[in-house]
Amino acid sequence: MDMDRENTLIVGAGPIGLACAISAKRRGLDPLVIDAGAAVNSILHYPTGMSFFTTPELLEIGGHPFTCAAEKPTREEALMY
Ligand SMILES: Cc1cc2nc3c(=O)[nH]c(=O)nc-3n(C[C@H](O)[C@H](O)[C@H](O)COP(=O)(O)OP(=O)(O)OC[C@H]3O[C@@H](n4cnc5c(N)ncnc54)[C@H](O)[C@@H]3O)c2cc1C
Repeated sequence: MDMDRENTLIVGAGPIGLACAISAKRRGLDPLVIDAGAAVNSILHYPTGMSFFTTPELLEIGGHPFTCAAEKPTREEALMY
């Protein structure tokens, strides 16, 4: 880790960690995000084809629009987002 460059460490690259990273970046910080697995590791391990029970606008992070084909997004659409 480059301690001169990185001034914020975020542990966990799930939706919350990524939202924190976007927020930190917009405040002029240069966060380093680390994860024990892959990015969005929890969603990656959802069952294939699983639909969220939450509608997409409530899952958006960083103000980026999340569109999906049906009313509720699937695991695959969330991974693409
Ligand atoms: C089957 C299923 C369906 C779900 N459906 C919905 C839904 O419809 N709507 C909804 O809002 N929520 C749903 N959830 C819950 C959803 O997974 C969470 O809301 C969301 O993932 C929480 O995001 P998070 O970033 O807080 O945690 P997580 O997504 O769990 O991210 C945490 C990250 O931290 C990493 N991590 C953990 N410990 C360490 C460590 N010690 N060092 C480094 N990295 C670490 C993990 O690998 C992971 O990537 C569902 C969950 C499951 C299991």
